[in-house]
Amino acid sequence: MTCVLRAMQATAQQPQRREVLIPAYTCYSVAASIVRAGLRPRLYDIDPETLDFDPASIQRVAPNNVLAIISANLYGIPNSLDRLEALARDNGLYLIDDAAQALGARFKGRPLGGYGDVGILSFEKGKNITTLKGGAIVGGSGPLMERIERARDTLPGSPLVGTLMSWAKLPAYALFFRPELYGLVQSLPWLELGITRYEEDFAIEQYSPSLAGLALRLCDRLDQLNRQRNANAERVSNALRPFPEVRLLRRLEGSQEALVRLPVFVESAALRTRLIAELNAAGIGASGSYPQALCDVPEVRRLLPAEDLEMPKARRVAATVVTLPTHPYCPPDLADRIGSVLRRVTQSVAP
Ligand SMILES: *Cc1c(COP(=O)(O)O)cnc(C)c1O
Repeated sequence: MTCVLRAMQATAQQPQRREVLIPAYTCYSVAASIVRAGLRPRLYDIDPETLDFDPASIQRVAPNNVLAIISANLYGIPNSLDRLEALARDNGLYLIDDAAQALGARFKGRPLGGYGDVGILSFEKGKNITTLKGGAIVGGSGPLMERIERARDTLPGSPLVGTLMSWAKLPAYALFFRPELYGLVQSLPWLELGITRYEEDFAIEQYSPSLAGLALRLCDRLDQLNRQRNANAERVSNALRPFPEVRLLRRLEGSQEALVRLPVFVESAALRTRLIAELNAAGIGASGSYPQALCDVPEVRRLLPAEDLEMPKARRVAATVVTLPTHPYCPPDLADRIGSVLRRVTQSVAP
């Protein structure tokens, strides 16, 4: 993302465009990559019903100083990318389609990562496919992509030790998904599972060719994996529908998801905390996702103009979201088990 933004700034040749518009609820490293590129993050709010962008919140920002706008497609759920693309085009902005969590998803027939000027894929932990690190930039031809390719060619190669470490950790990571080993693997600190940190001094280096080869192999199974994930998510969603305490998202028309996690929303803070704890105690990897909206992450907040400091809808998402596993090793009775934990927890926590 940092390489892409630097290339966009060089290609745009409009030095006053130093702002990058991002969702107020997304991966913290999106904000960090902007800062690392020497640019300023600006936020737009999101719709808690769909996780799509809030158009009014984007239109509030004067476009003259904006270089690019970035999508989120969190949990493998498409944003309305056709509208975002039109918005970017009408205002002379670049669009980066962040498909880090949405490889294999589609919107109105087009693959995610394929909207806008450039797409971003990630093969980090917890993504649709993983080699523990690495990612890909998706783009067409033209001066921007040529500049990105030149930038890639001048990056340092991936260090051998790091690559060997990734190959060594991969089997442990694969075990993480086995429900019977969940507690054990969860306790291995060097896998850094479920940790959200804001980090600006990350390495920017080429993707190891051996890990990239593994990613390509895994891509052969992507559609099958996503089908399994979506089917698991559907079963869990159905088990949750009887509970008024749990809200499910509304789907945008034309979206074909790649549900890397299933996000649901619990308004009661006490119930949400209890539910996450009880699901984990039952060996089900529920998580609160990113703990804060970006306007409340101190390292980001201090860079924001006054008008970006309050993002009420993103805050509400951060405070209420619970993500549930959808991976192919989910046991066949996962939905029933989640249902029975919910029944127990809703009966014991007062509304
Ligand atoms: C993980 C993630 C990123 C960053 O990808 P890395 O490969 O971890 O740098 C960017 N955007 C979103 C939405 C992500 O989930």
